[in-house]
Amino acid sequence: MKKKIFSTLFFPLIIFFAFTDNAIGQEKIPPEWVTYFEKSGFIGTPSYQESIEYFTKFTRHSKFAKIAEFGTSPQGRKLWHLTVSASGDFSAEALKKSPKPLLFILNGIHSGEIEGKDATMLLLREILVTGEKSSWLEGVNIVIVPIFSVDGHERKSKYNRINQNGPEEMGWRTTAQNLNLNRDWMKADAPEMQAMLRLISSLNPDFLIDNHTTNGADYQYTVTYGLEKFKNLHDSLAWSVTNSLIPYMERYVEDQGFLIAPYVGFRGETPESGLVDWAGSPRFSTGYTAIQNRIGLLVETHMMKPYKDRVYSTKSIMEAVITWLLKSETRIKKLNKIADESSVRDFNVNGRYFPVAFRNTNDSVMFTYKGIEVKEEESIISGAKKNVYTGEPYTIQIPFFNHSLPADSVTAPYAYIIPREWSEIAERLKLHGVEVQTILREKETEVTKYKFHDFKFSSAPFEGRQSVTTKYHTYTELVKIPEGSFIVYTNQRTIRVILTALEPKSGDSYLRWGFMNSIFERKEYFEDYVMERVALEMYYQDKAIAEEFNKRLREDQKFREDKSARLNWFYEHSPYFDKQYLVYPIMRVEKEIEN
Ligand SMILES: [Zn+2]
Repeated sequence: MKKKIFSTLFFPLIIFFAFTDNAIGQEKIPPEWVTYFEKSGFIGTPSYQESIEYFTKFTRHSKFAKIAEFGTSPQGRKLWHLTVSASGDFSAEALKKSPKPLLFILNGIHSGEIEGKDATMLLLREILVTGEKSSWLEGVNIVIVPIFSVDGHERKSKYNRINQNGPEEMGWRTTAQNLNLNRDWMKADAPEMQAMLRLISSLNPDFLIDNHTTNGADYQYTVTYGLEKFKNLHDSLAWSVTNSLIPYMERYVEDQGFLIAPYVGFRGETPESGLVDWAGSPRFSTGYTAIQNRIGLLVETHMMKPYKDRVYSTKSIMEAVITWLLKSETRIKKLNKIADESSVRDFNVNGRYFPVAFRNTNDSVMFTYKGIEVKEEESIISGAKKNVYTGEPYTIQIPFFNHSLPADSVTAPYAYIIPREWSEIAERLKLHGVEVQTILREKETEVTKYKFHDFKFSSAPFEGRQSVTTKYHTYTELVKIPEGSFIVYTNQRTIRVILTALEPKSGDSYLRWGFMNSIFERKEYFEDYVMERVALEMYYQDKAIAEEFNKRLREDQKFREDKSARLNWFYEHSPYFDKQYLVYPIMRVEKEIEN
């Protein structure tokens, strides 16, 4: 029903964006290479099995392609990636050593949004089979994940995405464990994400494309994009995104007949309130690639556009990225190397502040917005006014609030110490390509510790976790670090990942994600009649204690009238009190320390 309304509504747009050269192009295609999507009349997408078979066929046909597993889903499906390289050497070592940039194409992180998979089939066919784009392999290596959320892909139905206009059947947004993989990049709870991070860490790709379909308002654009360009990404990469990639990519995609715009998020309710762009946090693919010193492109086709246009516009934007990487002036590998090296220099050697939170400012530029007219009508369903899109395109000038500044920051220590009992944290860091060493011999050193106060837990789970926000004060202490503890030096190319994961101020730190919630629980309590006796002894034997207590009694009426608080005050000042209560187990070593 809903679908019918949409296709009537967008009939003029379909004509406007229709391709004229598909029929001509298809005549050259050997029948065995026609995709399911094409056979379906551009409205269907193949099953997991059929998709993997099609991608595997490339490897039988061409010596430039190889398919391999990289993990298993919770429901037991294999995760696959296809490597395409003209060198014929598909090892991670060869790909990393190659002078050609490595492009990583990720499809189906939300597998209800699957045009990337169908678009990649068409693109690879032109590179490996029909050959019109075979020369591209002279300048680039490509790794493709055909479907990331494989269990979600097979939970398919006509009814999985109420807002979306096809394909006929589509997968589900989350994994079989109901986790959203595009919130899981930092915390890496899903087995699929753990496998993905192992793969990415082994390959260290130069550029990531993450293909999606968007929700939200209706507008004319077939495809929108998200790219980090604030202080969460290294300056030289951010410069390249703003001044080279975006103008090139927009022109390329528009030349192929698709309207393209930055990701459409309004500041308020309406387009007139303006568009906003903000620094993406590293739970998302683009925010994550930024702290790995790489550019990540979020592709979001518009849910209401026909599936055909969504697939071809996704193909177009991927082509734009490849041809941009091929341009000699892009020099992406060099820029990535600079970003890796100067991240260490800036934050480890020079002690510069690393931003862990951002805020948008009121600065804006004008933006030409291509919207769809909305009119208000009475709704007999809600009993209030409803918005009805008329299908009429219109263009207005609106502000684009595209300034985001660091709102909070931290400095990097020389190293972090992770106690052995928190090995889960060490293991997660290793997934991100962080080098974690084990302390070989017990050593004594001064550390900085955090003691938490004013903490607050989320009232409902988010992504299966109860998150916590907290304030803290710092203090130093001379401690013995036992053999078997973990040490993480910050002079690594992954320094931004390390700081993001281990500094509690960061919104995606493991503390905030609830990895260490047990440390917020007090586990020992006193009996009042025992505490009365101990307190009395303390009061008469320690003059300083007595003075401090009396002062508190004089100055704090609430305290004076609270029997439990008075007893507890002595407990907290006694040697019986748990010294580890509310203390962050991970310690900072500020000065040089050898292992
Ligand atoms: Zn998505």
